[in-house]
Amino acid sequence: MPAAKLMPPARRCVIGVDLGGTKTAAGIVDAGGTLHAVESRPTPATAGAAAILATAVGLVTMLLARARALGLEPAAVGIGSAGVIDSREGSVVSATDSLTGWAGTPLAAHLAQHTGLPAYAVNDVHAHNLGEHWLGASAGADSSLLVAVGTGVGGSLILAGEPHLGARAVAGHVGHLASPYAHDDGGRALPCSCGRAGHVEAIASGPSILNLYRRLAGEAASGAGSAREVAARAAAGDPAAVRAFTLGAAAAGQAVGGLANVLDPSVVVIGGGVAEAGDLWWAPFRAALRAELMDPLDGLPVVPAALGTNAALVGAARLAFDRLASAPTAPPLENSHA
Ligand SMILES: [Zn+2]
Repeated sequence: MPAAKLMPPARRCVIGVDLGGTKTAAGIVDAGGTLHAVESRPTPATAGAAAILATAVGLVTMLLARARALGLEPAAVGIGSAGVIDSREGSVVSATDSLTGWAGTPLAAHLAQHTGLPAYAVNDVHAHNLGEHWLGASAGADSSLLVAVGTGVGGSLILAGEPHLGARAVAGHVGHLASPYAHDDGGRALPCSCGRAGHVEAIASGPSILNLYRRLAGEAASGAGSAREVAARAAAGDPAAVRAFTLGAAAAGQAVGGLANVLDPSVVVIGGGVAEAGDLWWAPFRAALRAELMDPLDGLPVVPAALGTNAALVGAARLAFDRLASAPTAPPLENSHA
């Protein structure tokens, strides 16, 4: 009988990986959700899939050794990755230019081959939601809608403990809802990262808020290079900065309110860097959301994400534990050819 079968459950762990366009982070997570170590490296985002995979494999290999040194028994690798991920196959269906050459990558199979462990992959926003639903802002909720407002606008719906992935792995793309806010002064739809126009991401994401500020402030916008800097200017009383944040937040609020009418989740969790701007963002967001909600949704809890930067790797770890638990048990040797 393999020794691992004799281990008490608390000694098992998995390696959770959060693979984003800027950095790749990985951590050792045990079955109780305790994070034993975290390491990260910049993602070589423009160097191609082989380099991106090599960075992930390097981090995971290091953490596997560390986990074993800590007396833990690694059982699997879970990966939350940017892009549209076919979670059944563990492969990358498509990805934006933020990860060059990422589409078509057999992500889970590559990690499994290089670690000797089962590996599972899911989109990083679903991973974030799994983390919050396990240990964070939506822990214990029947269903949870997570919306992340940052460099893009993404989402994930958990039903009965599992993210709804969709028939083509695309489910959750909250950023690509039509928004009446996503138009310029001339009524032209603002271009969106997906190649369409007039979508909520084109007005609500961090880069979109920065672009809007530049249009509103004209020459006075010079020097502002990020939504964070626009937030700082808003805090200092710059009216164009306040307006850019207000419109972006209102667009997000209207979209999330409409989604809540459609989905009626137990709780809505809001994550992403833009939502960290405090009341500047939350006040117009909540106002637009409440204006949109149908009356029976008056009491809908809408709360900030609670797990911080490790949410997606913890959620990727949870995915791995769940897949291990639902995997058909390897047949005993005497029955394997029955
Ligand atoms: Zn779009």
